[in-house]
Amino acid sequence: MSLNGKGFTARVSQGDRVAAGQPLISFDADLIARSAPSLLTQVLVTNRERISGMTVATGLVDAGRSVILDVELAAAAPVDGAPATEATAVSADIRLPNRQGLHARPAAVVAAAAKAFRADIRLLRGADAANAKSVTSILLLATNPNDAIRVSATGPDAAAAVSALAELLACGSGESEAAGPVPAAGPVPAAGPVPAAAAAPAIPAAATDPRRLAGVSASPGVALGKVAQVRRTAISVEEQGAGLERERAHLDAALARARHEISVQRAANSGAASRILDAHLELLADPELIDLAVAGLARGRSAGYAWREAYSSYAARLEALASALLRERAGDVRDVGGRVLGLLAGVTTAPLEFVPGSILIADELTPSETASLDAGAVLGLCTTGGGPTSHAAILARALGLPAVCGVDRAALELEDGTAVLLDGTGGTLLKDPDEAEVAAARAVMGRLAAQRQSERAAASEPAATTDGHRIEIAANIGTAEEAVAAVAHGGEAVGLLRSELLFLDRDTAPDEREQAEVYRAVAAALGRGRRLVIRTLDVGGDKPLAYLPLPPEENPFLGLRGIRVSLERPDLLRSQLRAILTAAALSDVHVMFPMIATLDELRAARRILAEEQAGGASVRVGVMIEVPSAALTAEHLAREVDFFSIGTNDLTQYTLAMDRGNPRLAPLADALHPAVLQLISLTVEAAHRHGKWVGVCGGLAAEPLAVPVLLGIGVDELSVPVPAIAAVKALVRRLSLRHCRDLAREVAGLSTAGEVRARLAQFGKQARPAAAGAGS
Ligand code: PEP
Ligand code: MG
Repeated sequence: MSLNGKGFTARVSQGDRVAAGQPLISFDADLIARSAPSLLTQVLVTNRERISGMTVATGLVDAGRSVILDVELAAAAPVDGAPATEATAVSADIRLPNRQGLHARPAAVVAAAAKAFRADIRLLRGADAANAKSVTSILLLATNPNDAIRVSATGPDAAAAVSALAELLACGSGESEAAGPVPAAGPVPAAGPVPAAAAAPAIPAAATDPRRLAGVSASPGVALGKVAQVRRTAISVEEQGAGLERERAHLDAALARARHEISVQRAANSGAASRILDAHLELLADPELIDLAVAGLARGRSAGYAWREAYSSYAARLEALASALLRERAGDVRDVGGRVLGLLAGVTTAPLEFVPGSILIADELTPSETASLDAGAVLGLCTTGGGPTSHAAILARALGLPAVCGVDRAALELEDGTAVLLDGTGGTLLKDPDEAEVAAARAVMGRLAAQRQSERAAASEPAATTDGHRIEIAANIGTAEEAVAAVAHGGEAVGLLRSELLFLDRDTAPDEREQAEVYRAVAAALGRGRRLVIRTLDVGGDKPLAYLPLPPEENPFLGLRGIRVSLERPDLLRSQLRAILTAAALSDVHVMFPMIATLDELRAARRILAEEQAGGASVRVGVMIEVPSAALTAEHLAREVDFFSIGTNDLTQYTLAMDRGNPRLAPLADALHPAVLQLISLTVEAAHRHGKWVGVCGGLAAEPLAVPVLLGIGVDELSVPVPAIAAVKALVRRLSLRHCRDLAREVAGLSTAGEVRARLAQFGKQARPAAAGAGS
């Protein structure tokens, strides 16, 4: 129903200043009721914190006479000693600079920034409004580049909120103006660029062939296999609830459980998958989504029923938007929603399992289903829904699986076991391919597989440059399973065991025995011939521990973090060191202290280690270089350690004074900034003067652009996530140390991260043909 304003009278005009309590609009309820198709009218009560009680009338009412709801206002409570205010502030028009409007990532940046304020904040575009603290609400505003947006806030910090958000929006909400669309909550999809929509088919086929079902390329490559239709068990939930309180507690518990599950998955993932999981965590905290579910509970629905109604309605609204990029976020809402629903219904969502050689056909695959696929059994993915920027597509590219989305719905009718040829590059599914088509597909697959295979085949070979310089490629891991995977993927050592993963997401600290078991399992997986660098507990800052309450700090990243926590709680450090020492006989164990800023910290930690060793097992000792003071005094530290490992993630944040977790700063917090590279050089020079080796275990080590310059600077070891090992090794083998050294010298004279990146990109291109020749 649209009344086009009939029956409503505005009491204020756009741009007017208004005071708390001033009427903004009046309306003729009778006229509206008579024009309405239904007299069921939703009454929304906001500012619940200011209401102490409500009495709802029941039975028949008389228009214009009956009172349907009595609201008792609570006595106004002063906030932080200040008088309660309900100030409202509104910004001027802001033109959105984002090339794709406020899509997922800028929406997440805005929502995160808005949550820092107590005020209720809305983004306004004409008559449309969105809750600035809700990603889904911002997405549903379906903004376009250059849209005029106003920020309006009501609450004690309204003015500050409006000014901060207006500035954020005007600056692109964490995206530079030139930035293209980024589908996930991170700056760059690690799994490679979105395939061009009009890519030439890998296997030519007649467009009119009825066996050929057209779709869109989501992940390149070709697969020959048998159809496996994805069938899921429907989750049924009771409509009627067992009372608001019980159902609310049930919903809260499921949301908390889902948050825990995703956080655990998040800790074990990197790259594209981790950014998708970040976006899912943001959705779980979306106030609009939760409010809608709670409204369902208040109507007597069960938690499962109300939650499913809430997320399905949000997903449906996203699916109805014109922008493909925004439509594809519906898949994420359904994925997170389905996870919580499964928990509410007590249905465990087991990973999908298929016979080897399967090509999966589904209307939609959720990102978590895609992430949990057995890549050994599944050869390709084909969905009738989704798009090339969906998170499932990003994950398919990360897994190296060809994928087609938006395919003709006739694909859902194909019988299990039907032979099909999936052309992920051309975006088609061909039923019952003939011999010639199979032969053509095999030739393409052979060529594509050769490169990947040669990398994998050479994974266990050392990484030496064309002029014979060896560099060690190690793995960053968190568990014993990952240690096994690291060895299988050619990892020559573990350069970083993040021991804190053992301590996070639990209610009590792991005891010495439990820790020892884990360290021993990792050490046994590596064996005596491989080095195992165990980093002692690195918590604080962004990694709080529930059972280790640290005093609240204004600047936690500059407070009790890393080694400072261990020195404050030597009991924890001592038991961890004792547990580590039990693994010393099984592998070449090295102990590494994190966040060392001063020589005194190193000496204090070493003293404790010496006391715990007490003439027993001996281990080598190193420190992470991730604070500028450590890099600048590396000369002194080098005398008292066996090795350094450079944590470029923290070194970048502390050198550039840019919070590593602030998405708005993500494009600027560049580890290839000349200042960071200079600190890496200083560290390497100091270590080598004292005959000590230097690794890099921060994210920079796995960046293909950075590998040549790190080699040129003289780094001895690169410690990277397990899936990156074979590719980094292959890259090293294509480089010449002489050229890398020249490059490092040249780059040292550059003044900005942009200049460094441009030069490194140029080097990458020049090096490719020569490298290919040298490698063959
Ligand atoms: C780093 O800071 O680069 C590092 C490897 O440590 P973390 O990312 O765990 O802080
Ligand atoms: Mg660090």
